[in-house]
This record gives sequence, structure tokens and C-alpha cells, in this order.
Amino acid sequence: MGKASRDKRDIYYRKAKEEGWRARSAFKLLQIDEEFNIFEGVKHVVDLCAAPGSWSQVLSRKLYLPAKLAPEKKDESLPLIVAIDLQPMAPIEGVIQVQGDITNARTAEVVIRHFDGCKADLVVCDGAPDVTGLHDMDEFVQSQLILAGLTIVTHVLKEGGKFIAKIFRGKDTSLLYCQLKLFFPVVTFAKPKSSRNSSIEAFAVCENYSPPEGFNPKDLHLLLEKVGSPSGIEDTDCCSGWLEGPNKVYIPFLACGDLSGYDSDRSYPLPKVAGGNYQSLDPVQPPIAPPYKRALELKKASNQGIRELENLSLDS
Ligand code: SAM
Repeated sequence: MGKASRDKRDIYYRKAKEEGWRARSAFKLLQIDEEFNIFEGVKHVVDLCAAPGSWSQVLSRKLYLPAKLAPEKKDESLPLIVAIDLQPMAPIEGVIQVQGDITNARTAEVVIRHFDGCKADLVVCDGAPDVTGLHDMDEFVQSQLILAGLTIVTHVLKEGGKFIAKIFRGKDTSLLYCQLKLFFPVVTFAKPKSSRNSSIEAFAVCENYSPPEGFNPKDLHLLLEKVGSPSGIEDTDCCSGWLEGPNKVYIPFLACGDLSGYDSDRSYPLPKVAGGNYQSLDPVQPPIAPPYKRALELKKASNQGIRELENLSLDS
């Protein structure tokens, strides 16, 4: 799909470029904030799975830049934003970057070190695996990312803090809800207007972090297993009990963002430009080391090899 055609068919892609966001995902976090006011009183944040960085940009614009530019706040310490991803990211003002795998314990340790004894008020996680199209597999890998995020939460989030995580809705959604409820009394699954209806993605908005009394982060997996296993085998008492009959779990599900605003599943006409044709804007920040780069290099080298072989056979 060409850029102009995508501009027409994906209004949030176009708006992201116009407003200087690196990805259309920025609108998802902004719309979650419109509904849940997630940035109120926040000074320390962790952005998990952050590349190419549009959520980090939102954090920088909403938290860091206003604090830096406000003269009345010049004596206060500036907000701390730590962003992690497998991929490197171009710099963003006020954002500390860590390149690493969030499922790796060492990455969690690096994040914790940045907080140097203080705790985060908010942890956000927009992590997504490379989708295979095999629904169960994608949902399972996604749930592993959320659990990795929850592990980091149990180390860095302060009591009362919030955790926002991308989820894929599927057969284990109720299980995930029950697991999150162990730590957060208020859990809502939200679907921002900028997230397409055709996509199974939604966001768990978890409020008021309250780990069980005496909880030791080392025991996280034992505790989660008590609720049920991610494979959906309901081999323990509480999860299967919660999910059936009169005790069935009803998950609060909320559409958010201005509901009369742009619809991500609709095409919008391109704006009229005085005296000329509409010019599509370039992406704000192309990925600096995309995973497909190596594949493109290999394809180029292989095409080159084929051409050389063809030339050889023509010469002989
Ligand atoms: N929130 C980002 C933004 O607004 O620009 C978009 C995030 S993108 C949808 C998903 C990201 O998850 C990718 O950049 C990918 O590298 C990252 N990711 C997937 N698995 C990861 C892992 N195990 N550890 C760290 N990052 C991971």
C-alpha cells in the first residue's frame, strides 16, 4: 500500500505524522488517558516494549517537557522515564533507553537499578510478539509478555500505582483478568477508538497496585499458577470455580477515546491542498534497526548473485 493510500485508509497513521508521533499507537495511550487519567501525579514511569517510541514520546510530552519548562517546578526533580525494547530507538528528550528482552531477569534488574531505590507510579507495556496468525500461539506469547511485565511491576511499581498492558482477547482473557486482579483491585479492559475493531488487541488498565499481604516477588509464578495455567488447563480450584455458573467472571470492558471522533476502521478523504496535489508526509522516525533490515540485505545479496550467474551463463 502506498503512503497516500494508507493516509486515506488509516486516519490515525496520517494524524500521527501530522502531529509528529513516531507511530499511530500514540493515540491509544492518549485515549486511555482521556478515560482513566493515568498521568495524574505521575513522576516515575517504565515504558516496556517501547520502540519505535510513540508511547515514550507521549510520556515525554505529557510529563517530562511540562516539568522541565515550568519555572515554578525548577527546584523539583524531573520525571524519570525508562523505556525498554529489544530494538534500539532514536533518542527522545527525557527518556532513558535500555535495549533488552523484558522476559529476561537481567533486563528487569537494569530497570530496577535506574530507579535507584525509588519506585514507579506507572508501568506501561505495549509489547507484541511478531504475530504468526496462529491465534492461540499469538495469544500465548502475548500473555508471556504481560507476565514478564507483571514481574517487573512487582519489583518497581509503588503501592497504589497503575499498570497498562496490551492484551490479545481470546479464550484465556478471563484467566488473565483473574491473575491481574490478584494485584490490582480495579482492572478494566479498554478498547481505544484508535485500535481497530478488526484487531483482537485491547488494553488492561490496572489501578491501585496492592500486592497480597506478605507477597514475595519470587513467588509470583506460584501465585499465578494457583489461579490457573496459561494454557487454559483449569486444574486448580479457584479459576475454574470463578469462571462458571453463578460465579462467572464478568470483565469490565470499556470503549475509550472520543466516541464521536475518528473511526480507525473507516477511510477518510485526503485533505484538499490549495493549488496542488496532496503530498503524503514521511514517517516521523523510521525504525533505526528494524528486524526486517537483515532480510532485505540477504534478499539484495541473493538477487545480485542471481544476476551475476545469469551474466556468466550469457557470456559462455
Ligand atoms: N509502544 C510502541 C510505540 O508506541 O512506539 C510500540 C510497541 S510495538 C507494538 C511492540 C514492541 O514490542 C516492538 O518494538 C518489539 O520489539 C517489542 N517487544 C516484543 N517482545 C519483546 C521483548 N521480549 N522484550 C522487549 N521488547 C519486546
